[in-house]
Amino acid sequence: MTDLQRRQDRSPVPSSFDYAPAPEARDIVRLESRYGLYVGGEWLEPRSGEYQPSISPATEEPLAEVAYGGAEDVDLAVTAARDAYENGWSGLRPAERAKYLFRIARILQERSRELAVLESLDGGKPIRESRDVDVPLAAAHFFYYAGWADKLEYAFPNRSPRPIGVAGQIIPWNFPLLMLAWKIAPALAAGNTVVLKPAETTPLTALLFCDVLRQAELPPGVVNIVTGDGRAGAELVKHEGVDKIAFTGSTEVGKAIQRELAGSGKKLTLELGGKAANIIFDDAALDQAVEGIVNGIYFNQGHVCCAGSRLFVQESIYEPVIAKLKRRLGTLRVGDPLDKNTDVGAINSKMQLERIQELVEAGKEEGAEIYQPPCQLPEKGYWFAPTVFTNVAQSYRIAQEEIFGPVLSVLTFRTPDEAVEKANNTPYGLSAGVWTEKGSRILWMAQQLRAGVVWANTYNRFDPTSPFGGYKESGFGREGGLHGLDPYLRFDASEVKGG
Ligand code: NDP
Repeated sequence: MTDLQRRQDRSPVPSSFDYAPAPEARDIVRLESRYGLYVGGEWLEPRSGEYQPSISPATEEPLAEVAYGGAEDVDLAVTAARDAYENGWSGLRPAERAKYLFRIARILQERSRELAVLESLDGGKPIRESRDVDVPLAAAHFFYYAGWADKLEYAFPNRSPRPIGVAGQIIPWNFPLLMLAWKIAPALAAGNTVVLKPAETTPLTALLFCDVLRQAELPPGVVNIVTGDGRAGAELVKHEGVDKIAFTGSTEVGKAIQRELAGSGKKLTLELGGKAANIIFDDAALDQAVEGIVNGIYFNQGHVCCAGSRLFVQESIYEPVIAKLKRRLGTLRVGDPLDKNTDVGAINSKMQLERIQELVEAGKEEGAEIYQPPCQLPEKGYWFAPTVFTNVAQSYRIAQEEIFGPVLSVLTFRTPDEAVEKANNTPYGLSAGVWTEKGSRILWMAQQLRAGVVWANTYNRFDPTSPFGGYKESGFGREGGLHGLDPYLRFDASEVKGG
C-alpha cells in the first residue's frame, strides 16, 4: 500500500482541474408564469384554487406557479381517462397505438435539449446527466414499448392479454421525466389510459411533456397530469375509478398505499427505497472499480433508489481503494447544474438537504470517520459536498437508512460469504454491484444477493429492455422489459389456450 501511495503521489494527474465555466443556455426553455392541470387534453384551473411555485434548488429562484390538485381535480382527471379508455383508446388498433408512442419518442428526441435544460433547472441535476441519461432513456422507453404495442399476443403467447383500464401513477423527484416515461410508455402500449401525479418539487418537465402529447396529437384524456403534493397522490390512490396504481417513492408512503389498497382489487406495483451494496473484491480492476463507486453514489447527487450507498471493500485492498477514492473525489466538480463540467449538482429540496444533514450528523455521533474533499459550495441554493464515511459499523444509521444524498458508507469484509451476509443485512433489496475478474464469482454472488438488479463490473446501467424492481422493503413488481408490461395487462384465465 505505501508503495502504491508513493507511486500515486508521483503521478502527474493533478488533484483538481480548473475549467472555464461552460453553462448551457437556458433560453431554449420558455416557461409560462402559471400552469393549470392537464385534463382531457386541456389546461384546467384547479378546482382547489391552489397554486404553489416550483423553485430551482440551485438558486432558490421561483420558476413557475403550478396548480395543486385536490379531490375534485383528481376526479375530473380520472373521469377524462375513463372516457378516453372506453371511447377510443382501448379499442384502437394496436398498430395505431404504437404510432402515437413512436411519435412521442421522436418528439422527445427532437426537443431533448429543451427538456434536459428544464430538468436540470427544476431538479438541480447536472445537465450532463439530464442530457446524456434522463432524456435519451425516456425516449428509449417510448421507442421500446411502441415496438411491443402490436405484439402483445407474441409477448404473452396463449394468454389473451387485455388492458386493465385507468392507471394512476405517482412519481418521485429524482428522475422526473424518466420515471414518467417508465410509467406512461408501458401503460399506453398495453392500451390503458393514465392519470399521473408528478412530485411536488419537480413538476415542470411533466408539464412540458403535455405539450409533447399535443404535438403528437394523442387523443384527449389518454394521459392526464395532476400536479400537487401528497394529498393529490392520496386522492388518486383511493379513487374508485382507478384500476391500477404504480408508485415510485419512499418505503413509508409505499406501505401506506399498500394498506389503503388492501382488499380493493386494484393492481399495485411499488418501487421503493434501497440501500445497495457495492462489493469490491481484491482481484477487481481497482481504477475501474473506483469509477464505479463514484458513479454508484455521486450520480444524481445520490438521489437514486438503487445508489451504491454501502461500499463493501475486501480487507486486503481497503487502503488503496480508499486512497484512490479520496483522490478521485477531489476531482469532482460540484456546482451549477447547467454547467456542462459539473459532476454533482444541487440537492433537490431544502427538506431533502435537511434529511441528509441529519443522517450525516448521526454518522459522526455514532463514531464513523467523515471525509469531504475541499470544495466551495455556492452560497445560495441547496448543496452538499460529496462525502465518504469510513469506520462504519453495520448498526449505524448511515449503514441502515436510505440517505438519498451524496454520502457513502464504507465497510469491509474478508470472504465472499461474509460479503453476502453483510450485503443482505438490510430491509431493502433493490440493487447491488459486484467487482471481480472471476466470472464464476459474479454468477455465484448474483445468486446469493437478495437484490432485484445485480450489476457486474459496472453500476447504474439502465436499459428499457431490462426489468427493474426490488425485493423486501424495496417493493414489488418490475418496470422495464416484458416484465414491465405485465402489470398493465389482465389475462383472462378462461381463455388460456392449449393447456
Ligand atoms: P415520497 O414517497 O413522499 O414521494 C413520492 C411521490 O409520492 C411524490 O409524488 C409525493 O408527492 C407522493 N406522495 C406523498 N405522500 C403520498 C401519499 N400519502 N399518497 C400518495 N402519494 C403520496 O418521497 P419524498 O419525496 O418525501 O422523499 C422522502 C424519502 O423517500 C427520500 O429521502 C428517499 O429516501 C425516498 N425516496 C425514494 C425514491 C425512490 O426512487 N425509491 C424517490 C424519492 C424518494 P410530493 O412530492 O408532493 O410529496
